Amino acid sequence: MGTLPDSPALVLNADFRPLSYFPLSLWPWQETIKAVFLDRVNIVSEYDREVHSPSFSMRIPSVIALKTYVPVPRRPALTRFNVFLRDRFSCQYCGDPFPAADLTFDHVVPRSRGGRTGWHNVVTACSGCNLTKGASLPHECGMYPRRNPSEPTNRQLQENGRRFPPNYLHESWRDYLYWDTVLEPS
Ligand SMILES: [Zn+2]
Repeated sequence: MGTLPDSPALVLNADFRPLSYFPLSLWPWQETIKAVFLDRVNIVSEYDREVHSPSFSMRIPSVIALKTYVPVPRRPALTRFNVFLRDRFSCQYCGDPFPAADLTFDHVVPRSRGGRTGWHNVVTACSGCNLTKGASLPHECGMYPRRNPSEPTNRQLQENGRRFPPNYLHESWRDYLYWDTVLEPS
Protein backbone atom coordinates (compact mmCIF):
# COMPACT_ATOMS: atom_id res chain seq x y z
CA MET A 1 0.00 0.00 0.00
CA GLY A 2 1.35 3.39 -0.93
CA THR A 3 1.79 6.35 1.34
CA LEU A 4 -1.38 8.19 2.23
CA PRO A 5 -2.12 11.08 4.50
CA ASP A 6 -3.32 9.84 7.84
CA SER A 7 -7.04 9.12 7.53
CA PRO A 8 -8.11 8.00 10.96
CA ALA A 9 -11.32 6.11 11.61
CA LEU A 10 -13.64 7.01 14.45
CA VAL A 11 -14.03 3.80 16.46
CA LEU A 12 -17.48 3.07 17.86
CA ASN A 13 -18.34 0.42 20.40
CA ALA A 14 -20.89 -2.21 19.35
CA ASP A 15 -23.62 0.11 20.67
CA PHE A 16 -22.49 2.78 18.18
CA ARG A 17 -21.26 5.12 20.84
CA PRO A 18 -17.62 6.19 20.57
CA LEU A 19 -15.33 3.81 22.42
CA SER A 20 -13.89 6.87 24.11
CA TYR A 21 -14.64 10.59 23.86
CA PHE A 22 -11.56 12.03 25.41
CA PRO A 23 -9.21 11.29 23.96
CA LEU A 24 -11.45 10.50 21.02
CA SER A 25 -11.09 6.86 19.93
CA LEU A 26 -9.35 7.05 16.56
CA TRP A 27 -7.38 4.40 14.74
CA PRO A 28 -4.89 5.02 11.93
CA TRP A 29 -6.12 3.67 8.61
CA GLN A 30 -3.58 0.81 8.64
CA GLU A 31 -4.98 -0.52 11.89
CA THR A 32 -8.55 0.01 10.67
CA ILE A 33 -8.01 -2.03 7.52
CA LYS A 34 -6.34 -4.78 9.48
CA ALA A 35 -9.41 -4.95 11.78
CA VAL A 36 -11.71 -5.08 8.74
CA PHE A 37 -9.81 -8.06 7.35
CA LEU A 38 -9.85 -9.79 10.73
CA ASP A 39 -13.64 -9.32 10.69
CA ARG A 40 -13.61 -7.51 14.02
CA VAL A 41 -15.42 -4.37 12.87
CA ASN A 42 -18.27 -3.22 10.66
CA ILE A 43 -17.65 -0.34 8.30
CA VAL A 44 -20.13 2.44 9.02
CA SER A 45 -18.81 5.19 6.75
CA GLU A 46 -15.93 5.66 4.31
CA TYR A 47 -13.60 8.33 3.02
CA ASP A 48 -13.39 8.98 -0.71
CA ARG A 49 -9.72 7.95 -0.59
CA GLU A 50 -8.76 4.43 -1.54
CA VAL A 51 -5.87 2.18 -0.69
CA HIS A 52 -4.48 -0.06 -3.40
CA SER A 53 -2.31 -3.12 -3.47
CA PRO A 54 -1.67 -5.41 -6.45
CA SER A 55 -4.53 -7.66 -5.38
CA PHE A 56 -7.22 -5.34 -4.02
CA SER A 57 -8.41 -1.81 -3.51
CA MET A 58 -10.79 -0.41 -0.96
CA ARG A 59 -12.05 2.90 0.33
CA ILE A 60 -10.64 3.84 3.71
CA PRO A 61 -13.24 3.55 6.48
CA SER A 62 -13.94 6.82 8.30
CA VAL A 63 -16.25 5.30 10.93
CA ILE A 64 -16.14 1.70 12.13
CA ALA A 65 -18.05 -0.17 14.84
CA LEU A 66 -16.67 -3.04 16.87
CA LYS A 67 -18.59 -6.29 16.43
CA THR A 68 -18.05 -7.24 20.07
CA TYR A 69 -19.15 -4.84 22.78
CA VAL A 70 -16.34 -3.67 25.03
CA PRO A 71 -17.69 -3.04 28.53
CA VAL A 72 -17.02 0.46 29.80
CA PRO A 73 -15.74 0.44 33.39
CA ARG A 74 -18.45 1.71 35.72
CA ARG A 75 -16.19 3.81 37.88
CA PRO A 76 -13.53 6.06 36.39
CA ALA A 77 -9.94 5.46 37.45
CA LEU A 78 -8.35 8.04 39.72
CA THR A 79 -5.69 9.43 37.42
CA ARG A 80 -4.16 12.88 37.15
CA PHE A 81 -5.79 13.24 33.79
CA ASN A 82 -9.27 12.29 35.01
CA VAL A 83 -8.93 14.74 37.90
CA PHE A 84 -8.07 17.49 35.40
CA LEU A 85 -10.99 16.42 33.23
CA ARG A 86 -13.41 16.46 36.18
CA ASP A 87 -12.20 19.97 37.04
CA ARG A 88 -12.31 21.03 33.35
CA PHE A 89 -8.61 21.83 33.28
CA SER A 90 -9.16 24.77 35.65
CA CYS A 91 -7.25 25.48 38.81
CA GLN A 92 -9.72 24.95 41.65
CA TYR A 93 -8.17 27.79 43.67
CA CYS A 94 -7.73 30.70 41.26
CA GLY A 95 -10.29 29.38 38.76
CA ASP A 96 -8.10 29.92 35.69
CA PRO A 97 -7.91 27.33 32.89
CA PHE A 98 -4.49 25.90 31.98
CA PRO A 99 -3.08 23.37 29.51
CA ALA A 100 -2.67 19.96 31.15
CA ALA A 101 1.13 20.32 31.13
CA ASP A 102 0.88 23.36 33.42
CA LEU A 103 -1.44 21.75 35.95
CA THR A 104 -0.67 19.81 39.10
CA PHE A 105 -2.93 18.11 41.56
CA ASP A 106 -3.25 19.28 45.09
CA HIS A 107 -4.28 17.44 48.23
CA VAL A 108 -6.89 19.68 49.91
CA VAL A 109 -5.87 18.16 53.23
CA PRO A 110 -2.11 17.71 52.68
CA ARG A 111 -0.75 14.21 52.95
CA SER A 112 1.58 15.44 55.70
CA ARG A 113 -1.57 16.31 57.68
CA GLY A 114 -3.20 12.94 57.12
CA GLY A 115 -4.97 13.72 53.83
CA ARG A 116 -5.61 10.79 51.54
CA THR A 117 -5.21 10.45 47.81
CA GLY A 118 -8.78 10.07 46.58
CA TRP A 119 -11.49 11.81 44.58
CA HIS A 120 -12.70 13.67 47.70
CA ASN A 121 -9.31 15.13 48.61
CA VAL A 122 -7.56 15.78 45.30
CA VAL A 123 -8.18 18.81 43.11
CA THR A 124 -6.62 20.41 40.04
CA ALA A 125 -4.29 23.30 40.87
CA CYS A 126 -1.93 25.53 38.91
CA SER A 127 1.65 25.32 40.14
CA GLY A 128 1.44 28.85 41.58
CA CYS A 129 -1.56 28.07 43.76
CA ASN A 130 -0.13 24.68 44.69
CA LEU A 131 3.07 26.35 45.88
CA THR A 132 1.18 29.06 47.80
CA LYS A 133 -1.04 26.54 49.53
CA GLY A 134 1.88 24.28 50.40
CA ALA A 135 1.13 22.12 53.44
CA SER A 136 -1.62 24.35 54.81
CA LEU A 137 -5.17 23.33 55.52
CA PRO A 138 -7.78 25.41 53.61
CA HIS A 139 -8.81 27.44 56.67
CA GLU A 140 -5.17 28.22 57.50
CA CYS A 141 -4.47 29.87 54.14
CA GLY A 142 -7.99 30.87 53.11
CA MET A 143 -7.75 28.72 49.98
CA TYR A 144 -10.83 26.59 49.39
CA PRO A 145 -11.55 24.58 46.23
CA ARG A 146 -14.21 26.24 44.09
CA ARG A 147 -16.16 23.01 43.92
CA ASN A 148 -16.30 20.38 46.61
CA PRO A 149 -14.28 17.54 45.11
CA SER A 150 -16.25 14.33 44.57
CA GLU A 151 -16.02 11.17 42.53
CA PRO A 152 -17.28 11.80 38.98
CA THR A 153 -19.23 9.31 36.92
CA ASN A 154 -17.89 8.16 33.56
CA ARG A 155 -20.76 10.05 31.98
CA GLN A 156 -19.70 13.32 33.64
CA LEU A 157 -16.15 12.84 32.43
CA GLN A 158 -17.43 12.12 28.92
CA GLU A 159 -19.56 15.26 28.99
CA ASN A 160 -16.58 17.32 30.13
CA GLY A 161 -14.44 15.71 27.44
CA ARG A 162 -16.81 16.92 24.78
CA ARG A 163 -15.99 20.49 25.71
CA PHE A 164 -12.51 19.84 24.36
CA PRO A 165 -13.13 18.64 20.80
CA PRO A 166 -10.23 17.25 18.77
CA ASN A 167 -8.58 19.55 16.27
CA TYR A 168 -9.84 17.53 13.37
CA LEU A 169 -13.41 16.31 12.90
CA HIS A 170 -14.46 14.48 9.76
CA GLU A 171 -18.07 15.25 8.84
CA SER A 172 -18.98 11.54 8.92
CA TRP A 173 -18.11 11.49 12.65
CA ARG A 174 -20.56 14.15 13.73
CA ASP A 175 -23.64 11.93 13.87
CA TYR A 176 -21.88 9.62 16.31
CA LEU A 177 -20.38 12.30 18.47
CA TYR A 178 -23.22 14.70 18.95
CA TRP A 179 -26.63 13.16 18.47
CA ASP A 180 -27.27 12.33 22.11
CA THR A 181 -26.21 15.82 23.13
CA VAL A 182 -29.07 17.15 21.02
CA LEU A 183 -31.51 14.69 22.54
CA GLU A 184 -30.40 15.34 26.08
CA PRO A 185 -29.64 19.03 26.53
CA SER A 186 -27.93 19.70 29.81
ZN1 LIG B 1 -4.36 28.66 40.50
